[in-house]
Amino acid sequence: HLRVRYAPSPTGQLHIGGARTALFNYLMARKDGGQFIIRFEDTDQSRHIESGVSNQLDGLKWLGLDWDESLDIGGEYGPYRQMERLDLYKPFVEQLLAGGHAYPCYCSEEELEQERAEQEARGEMPRYSGKGRYLTAEQIAAYDAEGRKPSIRFRVPEGRLIAFKDRIREHVEFESDGIGDFIIVRADGIPTYNFAVILDDHLMKINLVIRGEEHLSNTPRQILMYEALGLPIPEFAHLSIILNPDRKKMSKRDESIVQFIGQYRDLGYLPEAVLNFITLLGWSPVGEEEIFTKEEIIAQFDLSRVSKSPAVFDMDKLNWMNNHYMKKTELSRVVALSLPHLQNAELVPQTLNSEQEDWINKLVGLNQDRMQYAGEIVQLSQIFFQEDVSYEEEEAKAILAEEYAPIVIRGFLDEVERAEAFEAELIPAMLKAVQKATGYKGKPLFMSIRVALTGQTHGPDLNMTVFLLGKEKVAARLNKLL
Ligand code: GLU
Repeated sequence: HLRVRYAPSPTGQLHIGGARTALFNYLMARKDGGQFIIRFEDTDQSRHIESGVSNQLDGLKWLGLDWDESLDIGGEYGPYRQMERLDLYKPFVEQLLAGGHAYPCYCSEEELEQERAEQEARGEMPRYSGKGRYLTAEQIAAYDAEGRKPSIRFRVPEGRLIAFKDRIREHVEFESDGIGDFIIVRADGIPTYNFAVILDDHLMKINLVIRGEEHLSNTPRQILMYEALGLPIPEFAHLSIILNPDRKKMSKRDESIVQFIGQYRDLGYLPEAVLNFITLLGWSPVGEEEIFTKEEIIAQFDLSRVSKSPAVFDMDKLNWMNNHYMKKTELSRVVALSLPHLQNAELVPQTLNSEQEDWINKLVGLNQDRMQYAGEIVQLSQIFFQEDVSYEEEEAKAILAEEYAPIVIRGFLDEVERAEAFEAELIPAMLKAVQKATGYKGKPLFMSIRVALTGQTHGPDLNMTVFLLGKEKVAARLNKLL
């Protein structure tokens, strides 16, 4: 059975790209009846942030994923955080040193910098020259006596073609001569990503590594280390990058697109819609259908239908999809997602009486089909809260300029003022009465009233809009306009 893992570095929020990597690993594990492991790669302490772990786990939980082993639930192959595994790595460093596959490097940052500058001046690709390979025992002893702390580098064999089969890219190969001897343990004794990752994948019995394309060039380095240690090599699958709608590389700093899972949660997206959407970033199902439950995806998912060309992140499509799910979601859940947005905007109180609850249920119900995500309720329901209606829209102005508009508005105001009860069911009868009294029906009738009350020519159900505005607001708006 498969043992796959998602191995984030806890350096920030859960990004849409990370979520996709996690999801594809999860789907493969669930389809296969295997195990999905989450391991935290935190050896780059300078980039570590404390909330990094919970951001990842909470985001994945929100999306509906679960896992079989990680630091929150434990597991047979823990710890699941690299900084707690440092002792496990030590024998492997010893093995590489003893076998001549690794050596200490005493170069200071300044020396390395100088070496790079010289290479660049000669027009060469800067890479470590490998000079530490040739240190004599005396030189090493001298450096040690000086108190210099070495880093450990892996000795990359010369003239090797490193070829491997990638489950998505098929045949991939690299020349070892393009790879300089790289650091596997830093001077402070902490292993680098490339080294720790292979040891963990080995110790955790990972047999398929699914990760982002940005790691493709790390793979030959990792294969060389597996070989040097005499360890079995897992299979690899590298997922293509995700591009912006304009086909440029996505940048985490670009705030014009929503790219972190926590933001979707906070905006009031539905996790099942976001999950469905992310699945289609690179995977294509058989057939035209694009709406799938998680269970349906698990049944159909396979790496053979994951594309090696870049996925394009289309926010409009996500919004369309979320709206599709919104429409089918039970009202109480849409209300629960919408209410905090209304409260944060201070449009409704923090605690509600039953009448207010009822009003909000109807307000959300009125807008449910139009909402792309729940946070939109604030903007969609502006007209119910604002004091003054703006009649600046061209189409609205045109309606109000019609001969019939003041007549209909007057007639409706009379009806409203006469009305004793103001129930949703009674509004149609009031409109009928206006029709009788003024002789206008259809568009002249309904448009005049809609525009008078909302300033807009489009909007949700008119009867419910009138009812939710309430007698006072309706009368005030009509009066003011007249
Ligand atoms: N820690 C790496 C990252 O966050 C993952 C590397 C891997 O999956 O091998 O990009």
